[in-house]
Amino acid sequence: MFSPGLDLDHLLEKAEREEKLSPAELLFLLELEKPEQLNRLFERACTLRNRYFGKKVFLYSFIYFSTYCRNDCTFCYYRRSNSHPRRYRKTETEVLEAARSMAGSGVHLVDLTMGEDPYYFQRHGFEPLVDLVKKSRKRPLFR
Ligand code: SF4
Repeated sequence: MFSPGLDLDHLLEKAEREEKLSPAELLFLLELEKPEQLNRLFERACTLRNRYFGKKVFLYSFIYFSTYCRNDCTFCYYRRSNSHPRRYRKTETEVLEAARSMAGSGVHLVDLTMGEDPYYFQRHGFEPLVDLVKKSRKRPLFR
């Protein structure tokens, strides 16, 4: 796609200065195809990543604490209409133990996730979920 007025050198310099790119500028970068242009983009991306994270690897994991869901997203294993998954809800203790175990094994980011399970907000409101997130963020779970 031809994007009048957009120039790769200018956008890479803007990114280097950490100035916000417009949607049109981001689209321009996403549509690059020439290997030479892509290499320049990736090199700049590496420079910016190294500025903040160096060459460290960060581990991410998640705890699916409820596999019930009232929705039916086609791509999802836990969609309502799929009869194959085992449905469960983890207790608060189970969630915190799993989070502690992950943190202890070096995981940097634990994502607490669930299907859109009406059980939580119909019976108890959102307070227990908020409470669970607060508890899971407390030391010594994470350093
Ligand atoms: S768990 Fe999430 S992605 Fe899966 S069906 Fe429910 S809402 Fe959709």
